Amino acid sequence: QASRLFHPEDTIIKTPHSTIGGKNFTLMAGPCSVESAEHILKMAQVVKNAGATVLRGGAFKPRTSPYSFQGLGKEGLIALRNAADRLELDVVTEVMDVEQVPLVEAYTDIFQIGARNMQNFSLLKAVGKTRKPVMLKRGMSATVADVLNATEYIAAGGNHQIMIVERGIRTFDNKYTRNTFDVGVIPVLQKLTHYPVIADPSHAAGHTEFVTPLALAGVAAGANGLIVEIHDDPAHAFSDGAQALKPNEFNEMVVKTNAVRQAL
Ligand code: PEP
Ligand code: MN
Repeated sequence: QASRLFHPEDTIIKTPHSTIGGKNFTLMAGPCSVESAEHILKMAQVVKNAGATVLRGGAFKPRTSPYSFQGLGKEGLIALRNAADRLELDVVTEVMDVEQVPLVEAYTDIFQIGARNMQNFSLLKAVGKTRKPVMLKRGMSATVADVLNATEYIAAGGNHQIMIVERGIRTFDNKYTRNTFDVGVIPVLQKLTHYPVIADPSHAAGHTEFVTPLALAGVAAGANGLIVEIHDDPAHAFSDGAQALKPNEFNEMVVKTNAVRQAL
């Protein structure tokens, strides 16, 4: 079902405030984690002012260590939903478990499947049974075939509103960047599949100073959108502070990515 051979036209996903795919460009941004109602509202204002239409924020966090902050859970979902509604933005947030699907579905516009769960087939089947768009993040060691098979698990349940995110993969040297941004996979996926392909420069870069260059590369490669982590006080962020753009840095990134879009 993912193949262009059987479905030549681009999949266009419509959410209340966004049209994703085809010739549209969708900007998504927000903190890695929802930290409080006040904080997510403040970040939502930055997202809105930059012209983005989707607010991100994790309420259930897939942390590498079980001793790291795990997310605010339902309280985080409520805060995220309220902030998005106040500013007329869509919500994308991660669902980590099959059991969480109904709860997350009640608050989000787009389900995020994290890189670590890209081959959690029970979870893919569960979101495949819903009728909400799914943003599937490429696993850190997933081949193109693995990613496309993961989309099949969602589509097989009848949910065809799928977008794929390139967020960097594991290669032999991840000392200076957190992951290796596989910019080449963007046009490859767009050739093979009709689903929108979104670039996540934040989780690839791992460091603030490399986020904008990777965002520019993703846009230049033809990504259908960007998802970027922002924070007003990165040093005190609950998660992923090292890769968060400050509001002014994010605004500067948007000016530059818009210039690249114009040039295409
Ligand atoms: C995230 O979006 O904050 C996240 C945990 O991403 P990934 O699943 O790509 O690591
Ligand atoms: Mn993150």
